Amino acid sequence: MSIMRPEILFPLFAPSTSLKGVGPRVAPLLDKLAGPLVRDVLFLRPHTLIRREQATVASAREGEVQIFEVEIDSYQKPRSPQQPWRIKTYDGTGVLTLVFFGAFGNQLPQRHPEGSRRFVSGKVELYGLDWQITHPDYMVAPEKAAEIPAFEAVYPATAGLPARSVRRFALEALQRAPALPEWQDPAWLAQEAFPSWQDAIAKIHSPQSEADLTPQSAALRRLAYDELLAHQLAMALRKADRRAEPARKIPASPLAAALAADLPFSLTGAQGRALEDIRQDLASGERMSRLLQGDVGSGKTVVAMLAMADVAAAGGQTALMAPTEILARQHFETLSGPLAAQGIHAVLLTGRDKGMMRAEKLRDLASGRISVAVGTHALFQDEVTFQALQLAVVDEQHRFGVAERQRLQTKGQGVHLLAMSATPIPRTLELTLYGDLDVSRIDEKPPGRTPVATRAAPMTRVGEVEARLRDAVASGAQAFWICPLVSESELIDLKAAEVRARELRERIGPSVGLVHGKMSGPEKDAVMADFADGRISVLVATTVVEVGVNVPNATIMVIEQAERFGLAQLHQLRGRVGRGHRESACVLLYDPPLSENAQKRLDILRKTDDGFVLAETDLELRGGGDSLGLKQSGFPDYVFADPFVHRDLIAAAGDDARLILNRDPNFSTDRGKALMILQELFDWRSGTHLRDAG
Ligand code: ADP
Ligand code: MG
Repeated sequence: MSIMRPEILFPLFAPSTSLKGVGPRVAPLLDKLAGPLVRDVLFLRPHTLIRREQATVASAREGEVQIFEVEIDSYQKPRSPQQPWRIKTYDGTGVLTLVFFGAFGNQLPQRHPEGSRRFVSGKVELYGLDWQITHPDYMVAPEKAAEIPAFEAVYPATAGLPARSVRRFALEALQRAPALPEWQDPAWLAQEAFPSWQDAIAKIHSPQSEADLTPQSAALRRLAYDELLAHQLAMALRKADRRAEPARKIPASPLAAALAADLPFSLTGAQGRALEDIRQDLASGERMSRLLQGDVGSGKTVVAMLAMADVAAAGGQTALMAPTEILARQHFETLSGPLAAQGIHAVLLTGRDKGMMRAEKLRDLASGRISVAVGTHALFQDEVTFQALQLAVVDEQHRFGVAERQRLQTKGQGVHLLAMSATPIPRTLELTLYGDLDVSRIDEKPPGRTPVATRAAPMTRVGEVEARLRDAVASGAQAFWICPLVSESELIDLKAAEVRARELRERIGPSVGLVHGKMSGPEKDAVMADFADGRISVLVATTVVEVGVNVPNATIMVIEQAERFGLAQLHQLRGRVGRGHRESACVLLYDPPLSENAQKRLDILRKTDDGFVLAETDLELRGGGDSLGLKQSGFPDYVFADPFVHRDLIAAAGDDARLILNRDPNFSTDRGKALMILQELFDWRSGTHLRDAG
């Protein structure tokens, strides 16, 4: 559905330069802070409130922002450029010194002559016995005392753009905010005591108390709900669009049953349930859009393989797409044998395939002789055609762009989509991330895994850790050593990793390898292959080595600066070891002292290895913000909504969106028309935010 931007929103979608005072110098700064549009400036909001209290010097309170009515007593000029101006003032109860750094010439005594009365306001501080304000915010004659606001909302600022200017622009943008028709259900508004959109946005810009600034204020909750509903609607619409396209009905097959029977294990309960979900989708006649979520090693690929067998039995083809060549290769190695045993042929297609071999693979896919293609981005290319592509399996789907995923699905008609993700997402957030997908969770590990012994140690004990590692390597173990990217400069981090690798080489021997983000794909792959084949025993890595890489012989994971990682990331890193039956260990090295929160994070990691539990805990501990490194997993960048604080609203918005689409799929009622304005206002359909599974 394509909607023209409603005229009523034109003033908000004008560039910020249409605001008074925003010229070519300021616009880029505002853009950085908020965005390019008047709307973006309107959506800025103050983070603190300064309350200015009238006080006397005798009743001054350290660190408070107060207003004093004083008489200028005397000036102390700076004797060198580094020294400040000092103005001694007096209010009948005590002495207050005003301090000004900088070159003022004689400006100060001219504007505020000795003996004149002034209202001054700023943060008062006690130096020894002297009360002092450095650079007062206000210093005005008594007749202008009213210019000092009792409350002042403090906006975010950036270099070259002070908070007070930002506030002016935000208030100016507020003037442009049109009266918009109500898009929320009146009963819901009443129940939540939500103000209208206009009132809410006005309230945001004129807070009267600290309570007005909290995310639980009625105004902010209203705006958060608007934003969440816009997003849920966008996702529900995409889902409905996909559903509307018919797809082949694919029944469960004896071929898949034979394949399952041939596996050296039986499916876990969670795997069985996930497969059941998938089979219902495949047999429904509507396109499937399902996400399979589960820790690395929880058995997602095996489940996908059984679905592929169903598809092959029905005469269709599957494309499995992985973000890196090494992951594609591992999938291929897992799948091709068991599939071939049932007469289902698979090929691996990567950027490396060239010439005759590639031509032959392409021919086999086009003719349908081959039923399963496993590959990387190479699968998108135009020359790759299928005889009957019916299932697209996308591993780590957030690492692909929307366009790429869509391109793959246009290689067939009504292609079913199965996405897989090893990033555990808390239940409450599932809807935000995957509102356009149905989700199956594999929350149970295959039996026989030994838990990874996890302990935390301060960096001061790195020598001991290295010594233990040397012994372990001497008896044939392999280890990952993660040096995270933490500083502003990737180069500095890279240096640190190189230093670490050199040091380990000195202590352990030449079999220490290094892989980092600045390496080319093939370079990385070569190092990883050496590690997988055992030619490298300790792999130092700057970034998280590709999620999902399987090196069963690796039993030790050392993570430097573990306190910098989110729980979910630590969990994923730890998941690279403990694949085999041997004892595995994870050492979390930290720079002391640990914050209470970091301490809790490292503690819980020692107690559980359930990714879903850890994801929930991480969310609780971090309390929103960019917890879990969610932005990396494609988490939406909300303006008003905080996925943690407003988690109750997420579920409500999801239900609301579904209800709306059921009742008014074409947005033809009055509310429907207003809802179209809402969607445009938040622009969830624009490419930058779009998280479409395909
Ligand atoms: P994922 O894709 O979730 O990372 P895989 O499907 O690749 O997990 O499975 C990881 C490993 O566990 C593979 O070696 C696979 O053969 C094995 N495996 C999968 N399911 C089971 C099971 N139910 N019982 C025992 N082993 C299993
Ligand atoms: Mg996997």
